[in-house]
Amino acid sequence: MEVFMKAIHKFYQKSWQERLAILAQSQLLSDDEIKLFQVNGHQAELFDSLIENYVTDYSLPQGLATNYVIDGHEYLIPMVTEEPSVVAASSNGAGLVKRAGGFQSHITERLMVGQVVLEKVAEPAKLKATILAQEADFLACANEAHPSIVKRGGGARFLEVRILSESEGLLSLDLAVDVQEAMGANMLNTMLEALAQKIRQELGQEVLMAILSNYAVHSLVTVTCEIEPKLLAKGELSGEEVAQKIALASHVAQLDPSRAATHNKGIMNGIDAVVLASGNDWRAIEAGAHAYASRDGQYRGLSQWNYQDGKLHGSLTLPMPVGSVGGSIGVIPLVKANHQLLQIKDAKQLATVIVAVGLGQNLAALKALVTDGIQKGHMHLQLKTLAVKVGATQSEVTSLVAQMEKAGKRDENSARQLLAQIRESRGN
Ligand code: NDP
Repeated sequence: MEVFMKAIHKFYQKSWQERLAILAQSQLLSDDEIKLFQVNGHQAELFDSLIENYVTDYSLPQGLATNYVIDGHEYLIPMVTEEPSVVAASSNGAGLVKRAGGFQSHITERLMVGQVVLEKVAEPAKLKATILAQEADFLACANEAHPSIVKRGGGARFLEVRILSESEGLLSLDLAVDVQEAMGANMLNTMLEALAQKIRQELGQEVLMAILSNYAVHSLVTVTCEIEPKLLAKGELSGEEVAQKIALASHVAQLDPSRAATHNKGIMNGIDAVVLASGNDWRAIEAGAHAYASRDGQYRGLSQWNYQDGKLHGSLTLPMPVGSVGGSIGVIPLVKANHQLLQIKDAKQLATVIVAVGLGQNLAALKALVTDGIQKGHMHLQLKTLAVKVGATQSEVTSLVAQMEKAGKRDENSARQLLAQIRESRGN
C-alpha cells in the first residue's frame, strides 16, 4: 500500500495507461477486476481530456422510451439508468397519455441567471439603487466579456438586485442572460466575473463570489396532459376511481414533504435518465428542481394532478436549462447520436421532451401506487436483475424469472437453487 501511495503521487500528471499500470500493480484489484478497467484507446484519449485522473469508462444501460407524443410529434427517447423499472414505466405512462392525445408544452422564456454576491455592504438600499441606475452599463460590461453570444443573437438581458441581509450587509446582483443553445454555465461565469471586477474597481465594493445560479426560474417549462378516466380503469377500480386516487395522491405530495420527496424522486427517475443521455448536467437539473419544489417555503410535489370536468389533468413545471450544444454534448459520440435519435431542433424542444418524460414517469408511478402497488410491476424486472446476479445466461433468464414468480420466491438462495434445477433439467 505504501508503494502504491507513492506511485499515485501526482497521479494527474501521468497518462491514463500509466495510471492503469499503477492500479494493476497496487494489489487492490484481482487480474479479473483489472481487466474490467481495460478501455477502448480512442475513447480513452477523449475522456482523459474531460476529467482528471481518468482510469476507465463506467457504463450504464441505455434504453429507449416509446409512446411519447409531445405537441403532436412522436419521439423515441434515450434514457440512461440502472433502475430496472424506469424505462418500462415511462413508456407505459406515455402510452396512456398518447391515447388521450399526447402532452402539450409551454415555455415563456429561456434565460440563465447568475449572481454576484456582495459582502460588507454598508448601505444596501443605496448600493442597490446605484447598481440599478447603471443597468445598461452593467449589461454592456457582461456582453463585452462574452461577445460571441451577442453575435449569436443572445446576451445579457436584465439585472435585478436583492438585499439578502440588511444587517449583515449582503446583497445579490442577479444577471439574466439569453444563452441561446447552450446551458450557459461557463458563459455566465465569465460575464459574472467581469461584473465582479467592475464592482470592485468602480464602486470600491467587496465581492464574495460570482457564479451561475442553478435556480433557473427564468427557464421554466410546463408540460400538461388531459386523460379520459376510461383509460385508467384497473382491475376492480373504475377509471373515475383511479383518476380521483391519482389526484388525491398528488394532493398528499403537496401537503407532506415525506411523500413529496418520493413523488419527486419518481419524476427525476425519468428526467435524470434523459438529461444524462442528452449529455446535460443532471446535478444542475436536480438542484434546480428541488429548489423549485421549495419555492413557497415548504418542499412540495413538483407535479399537479386534478380530476375536473370528467378528466384527469396533469401538469409539471420545472426549471429546465438544458443545452443542445456545449459541455460534453459535442464531445461524447453517443451523446451526439442520442440528439440525432431525439430529432430535436433546439434546446427548448429538448427541455419540453425532458419535462414530458417527468410527467409520464409520474403518471405511471402514481397509477401503480394507487392500484396494484409499486412492487408488482417492479418485481418482474427486479427478478431479471437477480437472475443475472446469480449467473443466469441470457437464454436462462426468462425461465428462471418465470420459475421464481411461480414459486413466489425473491431471494438469492432460491434463485441459485432454481437455476441449478433448470440446468439439471436441461442436462447441462
Ligand atoms: P460551454 O462552456 O461548452 O459553452 C457553450 C459553447 O457552445 C460555447 O463555446 C459557444 O461558443 C458554443 N456554441 C455553439 N453554438 C452555440 C449556440 N447556438 N448557442 C450558444 N452557444 C453555442 O458550455 P456551457 O457554458 O453551456 O456550460 C455547460 C457546462 O458547464 C456543463 O458541462 C456543466 O456541467 C458545467 N458547469 C456547470 C455549473 C453549474 O451548473 N453550477 C458550474 C460550472 C460549470 P461561443 O463561446 O463561441 O459563443
